[in-house]
Amino acid sequence: MAFESLSDRLQGAVEKMGKKGKIQEADLKEMMREVRLALLEADVNFKVVKDFVKRVNERALNSEVLQSLSPAQQVVKIVNDELTDLMGGEQVGLNYADNGVTVIMMAGLQGAGKTTTVGKLANLIREQDKRKPLLVAGDVYRPAAINQLQTIGQQLDLPVFSLGTDANPVEIAKQAVAKAEAEGYDTVFIDTAGRLQIDEALMTELKNIKQTVNPDEILLTVDAMSGQEAANVAKTFNEDLDITGVVLTKIDGDSRGGAALSIVSVTGQPIKFTGTGEKLSEIEKFYPDRMANRILG
Ligand code: GDP
Repeated sequence: MAFESLSDRLQGAVEKMGKKGKIQEADLKEMMREVRLALLEADVNFKVVKDFVKRVNERALNSEVLQSLSPAQQVVKIVNDELTDLMGGEQVGLNYADNGVTVIMMAGLQGAGKTTTVGKLANLIREQDKRKPLLVAGDVYRPAAINQLQTIGQQLDLPVFSLGTDANPVEIAKQAVAKAEAEGYDTVFIDTAGRLQIDEALMTELKNIKQTVNPDEILLTVDAMSGQEAANVAKTFNEDLDITGVVLTKIDGDSRGGAALSIVSVTGQPIKFTGTGEKLSEIEKFYPDRMANRILG
């Protein structure tokens, strides 16, 4: 499960303080030192940690925590609230177009889980929101990527639109939206090319697709296991593309949690979903409050 070590560290700090009846300012300071270390060890962005600790401290000192009969519980509540806020506060759902076809453009580095997430998300919204999705093979540089999307489409019994590897991704996206309009699909997922690193050619292509099909959502998939680097990647994509949300993949393999805790404040964009395994059913809506509860155990 994600966040094991962070959970252990935070719970340890809380227990230590909970053993004391009344606490002093020094106890609070000691606890905040542990919280700070726990977050840094979880690979949370340094500035995010600094601001977080400052906010918790201010709230704890301003409230009646030190005088109260259960100071440890009160501090836990403050930490819980602030962790929830740090991860965005509320669950944010997909933005569907009011009329016509909803266009969801996927972006992300190679291997982040983009193609898998296209299938997972399309399947999820077909079940939960009764949508009729069309998957679009827009990564023309790796023939394997098209095959992969087609296989996923077959597994899920979802249609895949492809023009092979010779077509221009902008043209593919345009034609896919026209096909959806003509044939009654209400949600188009455009899989796009990824690279091992962010480069200008990639960004230019993504910008061109964006300009042409004017997506209702630009979802960035980032690998949770890359920790705060995931937040840096998200920041760059957001600056270039104005993403509308993040899908944090491979959270099942992430024992630290630095990505989830850094991304929202670094990018200002919500984490909308998490990938929780390799299976096509393993995707969940992201609830900041539930995640905070899990971290604090
Ligand atoms: P893309 O290059 O961004 O399109 O990435 P892929 O969709 O091909 O995914 C790369 C690898 O990550 C594949 O082996 C996927 O099965 C795996 N993967 C994707 N999402 C998850 C996830 O949430 N959890 C786990 N454990 N593996 C995932």
